[in-house]
Amino acid sequence: MAYTYDDQNIFAKILRGEIPNRTVIETEHTLAFDDIAPQAPHHVLVIPKGFYVTADHFAAEASEAEIVDFWRTFGSICADLGVSPDAGDGYRIIANSGRHGVQDVPHFHLHILAGRPLGRMLK
Ligand code: 5GP
Repeated sequence: MAYTYDDQNIFAKILRGEIPNRTVIETEHTLAFDDIAPQAPHHVLVIPKGFYVTADHFAAEASEAEIVDFWRTFGSICADLGVSPDAGDGYRIIANSGRHGVQDVPHFHLHILAGRPLGRMLK
């Protein structure tokens, strides 16, 4: 992989504590916090603490411990928000990646959007 990580991106600064955030949950390998410009009543960003640029970068290079921790954390957020479709009204996850994906912050992140009908468009 030829990804180069820019350690000046805004999420790197959040991870270093240089910028405040509204933390939803923090685990050994994962941080989740509220999006600063929410697009839905619930808009949570889930990021690995490791320095991965995109979803495929994370998939290829993260350890199994990081990957499991990331997805388990995602699952616990859905449970805590009460949005899992088995009990609630559902949600959407988005991982904008690269130029055509219109990724603004070059640190892999998953958007969790929930709390209203989200329509058919992704962005
Ligand atoms: P992207 O377009 O890269 O998928 O999304 C980046 C997201 O980060 C956007 O939804 C934007 O609102 C959010 N964001 C940008 N800067 C900050 C910040 O300083 N704090 C938080 N909590 N979210 C941010």
